[in-house]
This record gives sequence, C-alpha cells and structure tokens, in this order.
Amino acid sequence: MAIILSKKDLYTSNIIGVKVEKQKRSYNQTIGDAPRIVDIRRTRYLKICWMCGSPYESNRVNSFACSTRCSQNIWHHRQNGINPPARMDQLTKEKNVKEVKERFGYL
Ligand SMILES: [Zn+2]
Repeated sequence: MAIILSKKDLYTSNIIGVKVEKQKRSYNQTIGDAPRIVDIRRTRYLKICWMCGSPYESNRVNSFACSTRCSQNIWHHRQNGINPPARMDQLTKEKNVKEVKERFGYL
C-alpha cells in the first residue's frame, strides 16, 4: 500500500521554478494628493499540477492543482486514499522541465 502524500508533500514537491517579480503599485492616500508609487515584490511559482501534469503558475506556494477541477479530482483521490496520478518525480526532472521553464520565462 502506497504512502499517502500529505498536502505539504504535494505542494513542496511540484515546484519547478520560482520568480520574484517587481511591480509598481500606486496608492491614492488622500483624494487630491498625487498617488504614492510603491515597489512591491511578488513571488510567483512555476508548478506542475498533480492531477493532469500540466505546468501552471501560481502566486501561492501551497498550491498543487492547475484548476478547480483538478483540485477537486485530487481531493477525491485523497478521500479514497489514493495519491494523485501525476508522476511528479519524472515530471520535475530538469531535462523534462527545461522547455517549460523557458516558455514561462523562468530561466
Ligand atoms: Zn491540472
């Protein structure tokens, strides 16, 4: 019987890239004042969906599905004591993710 992966196992093992994006955000503090421009950093994660094996980007580190549909499927698998089907050890190998990282600008 396979060991059921915890949620933490799922969301820590499907990261193939991390990117910090700098963004400018303007705040209007008081009406009439010039907006204040603030630099913010946002971390984006390139991940692989545990259900369908597709790459996707997320702002949350603790994400492990590319869509609501996939996350529901994973939930059902877990309810039945089955790990989601993606072969993460294979999918996250450097030679397999190189093209994906290029496409999403993670290199
Ligand atoms: Zn998916």
